[in-house]
Amino acid sequence: MKDTYRHKGMRRQLVEELRRKGISNERLLAAIETLPRHFFLDKAFEEWAYKDKPFPIGNDQTISQPYTVAYQTSLLQIKKRDKVLEVGTGSGYQAALLAMLGARVYTVERQEALYEKAKALLSKLKLGNIRCYLRDGYKGLPEFAPFDKVIVTAGATGIPPALLEQLAIGGIMVIPVGEHVQKMHRITRLSEEEYDDQVLANFRFVPLLKGLNTID
Ligand code: SAH
Repeated sequence: MKDTYRHKGMRRQLVEELRRKGISNERLLAAIETLPRHFFLDKAFEEWAYKDKPFPIGNDQTISQPYTVAYQTSLLQIKKRDKVLEVGTGSGYQAALLAMLGARVYTVERQEALYEKAKALLSKLKLGNIRCYLRDGYKGLPEFAPFDKVIVTAGATGIPPALLEQLAIGGIMVIPVGEHVQKMHRITRLSEEEYDDQVLANFRFVPLLKGLNTID
């Protein structure tokens, strides 16, 4: 895997584009400028890695558009040492960014092929504290709860109750909810029983599916 001056130049332009689109978290923009997104895509898409677009990563899944990754990550307000649950590892790009921001990342994927690929890549890149699990993310990771932050990177038809339970008091969950188009929700846990639910902009995600897929 090579990261050339040309790739770095394209990343600088992508960061400028994200800034123009309203992303203002400098620590996050610096991480996007540093992390080679083309490592997370198939070689065939290398030329397009720094366009603000989603791309196929196999198994009918996509790596999210950089703007979407930046938008969700900004909403999470990541602090160093935050314990973060990600549902939908996909390529591993989002998990890598979270780790670069100092989070302790627990990422869950239901497709075995993607899980294996992301796990191998993330351990090779040595970006920090990331643990990968082959699980149904609907159920979260109860044995590691509570989480300071939860990020769901697939479109859910409803908010999975297990994820609400596993959020720490004072914690933030960012989750796209809806059937064909999703609205981003930022949910803050106020107390044992109370949650604040802010409904934000529209996005389109691949669906959050139930159960594991270990065949292809
Ligand atoms: N965050 C990823 C993009 C994810 S695309 C990245 O940075 O590349 C959404 C991913 O969610 C897909 O890989 C899909 O297989 C996974 N997914 C869908 N439903 C899931 C579930 N119930 N549990 C875990 N992963 C799930």
